[in-house]
Amino acid sequence: MSIGRRTFFGSVSALAAPQAAAPQRGSLEGDLLDEIAEISLVNTHEHIIPEQERTSSRIDFFTLASHYLISDAISAGLAGRQLAIVRDPEASPLRRWQAFEPFWESARLTGYGQALRIAIHDIYGVEQISADALGEINRRIAARNEAGLYEDILIRRSNIEYSVLDDYWNAAPVRPDPKFFVPARKFDRFVAPQSATNVRELEELTNSSITTLAGLERAMETSFEQSLDAGMVTVKSTLAYNREIHYTEVSPQEAESDLSALLGSRRTSPAGFRSRVERPYRRMEDYMFHHLMSLAETHDVPVQIHTGLHAGNGNFIENSKPTHLTNLFFLYPRVKFDLFHMSYPYQGEAAAIAKVFPNVHIDLCWAHIISPSATRRAIHEMLETVPANKIFGFGGDYRYPELSYAHAKIARRNVAQVLAQKVKEGFCTESESLELARMILHDNPDSLFGRGRR
Ligand SMILES: [Zn+2]
Repeated sequence: MSIGRRTFFGSVSALAAPQAAAPQRGSLEGDLLDEIAEISLVNTHEHIIPEQERTSSRIDFFTLASHYLISDAISAGLAGRQLAIVRDPEASPLRRWQAFEPFWESARLTGYGQALRIAIHDIYGVEQISADALGEINRRIAARNEAGLYEDILIRRSNIEYSVLDDYWNAAPVRPDPKFFVPARKFDRFVAPQSATNVRELEELTNSSITTLAGLERAMETSFEQSLDAGMVTVKSTLAYNREIHYTEVSPQEAESDLSALLGSRRTSPAGFRSRVERPYRRMEDYMFHHLMSLAETHDVPVQIHTGLHAGNGNFIENSKPTHLTNLFFLYPRVKFDLFHMSYPYQGEAAAIAKVFPNVHIDLCWAHIISPSATRRAIHEMLETVPANKIFGFGGDYRYPELSYAHAKIARRNVAQVLAQKVKEGFCTESESLELARMILHDNPDSLFGRGRR
């Protein structure tokens, strides 16, 4: 039977309403999900903007869709003028919707689409995202955009004990609201400055002068100490967005010669995508990354590393393979490494690494919305492969708490679904399965990041 496009999507809308996947009450999975809802989450990774900043800006449906759903709409073909209209807050909501809808139809079923639909449904009480509903969705979002929103969504609705916050927008450390967050800090700007101007920014940031490699190392140390004072619980690196994450062992002389070329502007850096494969100062970067690892070791601070899929619409996926990091796991046995995003699509490699290295943990942050089913399969596999204390089950990875709520809901369902299956297969008992849920959703990440709360 051939069905028209409109009919196809019409029928899918009815089947794929966000509540449809909920397990039946009284089933093993339903019982486990009820228990799992009571577990306070230690959320390993967020980008949530300060509440004050959020409530003082104009937020609407398209703001929420901008993270991450818009990337799938762009992948589906949204481009050029249509994309500009979707992104224009001054354009009328109807025009924006008309530009967005053809691509929303294709992107609404992805993990990002599911998260957005759950957020609109559960937080704003609107059944179906459509042209007719858009005005009401925007009114409800605006009405709720006031102080108290984060407490309601992050604590009351999501039952998140605390979240590790990635405050990449702050060059200098800022202590986030301790009611919700503990801070992760990035030092990538000290590892990989790309111009003399970048180095001057580091000098200002650390009130130091950087004319030699030792000066750059001292500046990184100063920033590290400032970050510890601001409550840093973990180092974070997202250099996988910029380059391959294999950091070779480099002599100080080699690194020094790269730095002096950088300060003298003697090399040209490639523009655009080529900059992610051609690194004119790579030896300096490699050296400085190892310096960062020794600081983490000295101060006993764990290290979160971006591996796997990149946000946005185009990058070199092989740059972020977790196996590139293997020499670090040998060289820094006392540093606790947290491999982000289950290294999707390299989750098998990540599991193989976490299985054998005592200092490596696998983190499912972002993963449940990249692919809910790949994450369920990965949990199945990991529980049999990796000791249970090495798995971190949830990180929201969003700028807006509504979407973190939705992600947490998908994560809890995924964990309940996998554990119910495991109990049925005789892998573990029901009470053991709850213990596993408590470990991966709370105790394991708390053992690394909880010191900011104690
Ligand atoms: Zn992130």
